[in-house]
Amino acid sequence: MSDSTCTACGAPPADRYVVSMHGEATCVQHPTRGQCALCARPRHTGESGWSRFTSATVRCPTCAGQAVDTQEEARLHIPAVRTGMAALGIELDQRVRVTLVEPDAINTDVVSLCLGRTLQRTWADRATTDVLGIEIARGLTTTHFGATVAHEIGHAWLAQRGARNLSPPLEEGVCELFSGAWLKRQRTEFASTLRRVSLESPDPVYGAGYRMVRDSVVSHGVAAVLDSVCRRGCLP
Ligand SMILES: [Zn+2]
Ligand SMILES: [Zn+2]
Ligand SMILES: [Zn+2]
Repeated sequence: MSDSTCTACGAPPADRYVVSMHGEATCVQHPTRGQCALCARPRHTGESGWSRFTSATVRCPTCAGQAVDTQEEARLHIPAVRTGMAALGIELDQRVRVTLVEPDAINTDVVSLCLGRTLQRTWADRATTDVLGIEIARGLTTTHFGATVAHEIGHAWLAQRGARNLSPPLEEGVCELFSGAWLKRQRTEFASTLRRVSLESPDPVYGAGYRMVRDSVVSHGVAAVLDSVCRRGCLP
C-alpha cells in the first residue's frame, strides 16, 4: 500500500515495516516508543514533531497537521457533517451544540480512547430524554472529527426519537453505523481505512455492535432497522 519512505530513516522501507492508517511506512527495525493515538503510526524514539493528545497518549505530526484544534475550526466543519447526516436521513429535531473539550476531560477512567460524548438528561417519570450537548475531543483529524460528530449525532437522534434502554452494543452499533455511513461518503483512502478499522474492531460493544447492526441492515434495510430500534428497542 505504501510507496513512500520510512517515517524514521527516510529511506524506502526495509523488508518488514508497519503501515499507519495514513499509509505511512515505518521499518520495524527502528526502536519505537508507543504509537499515534489516532492513526497507529509507531513513534520512533528521537523523532520530533509529536504532540500530546491525552496525558497518556500522543499524536503524530501527520495527524496534528490535520487537527481540528479550535472551536472556530470545529464550526467550519460541522455544517458539512450535519448535511452529510441529513443526506442519510438523520436529522435532529432540536439542534444540539457541539463543543470541543480537552481529551483528558472525557478520558477519565476508560480503557479505550474516547473521542466524543453526548450529554443527556433522562427523566424518571417521563418518556423523554433531553440532549444537552455533544462534546468532541480537541485535536482530532478532520476525518476523525466528522466521524465522531456523526456518531454522537446518532446518540442525540436516538434520544430525540425516544429510543431508551437500548443494550450498549445496539446503541453503539447504530451510532457506529451512522459514523461509518458518513465515512463512506468522504471517498478518501483515510476515511475508508478508518471505517474498516471500526468494522473490524474486536471491542465487544463498538465493533461487535457495529457488525450486528450492519448485518441486520443487510437483511432488512436501514429504514426497518431504525424503526424497530426506535419503537421496540431491538433489531427486527
Ligand atoms: Zn526506516
Ligand atoms: Zn497519527
Ligand atoms: Zn457512542
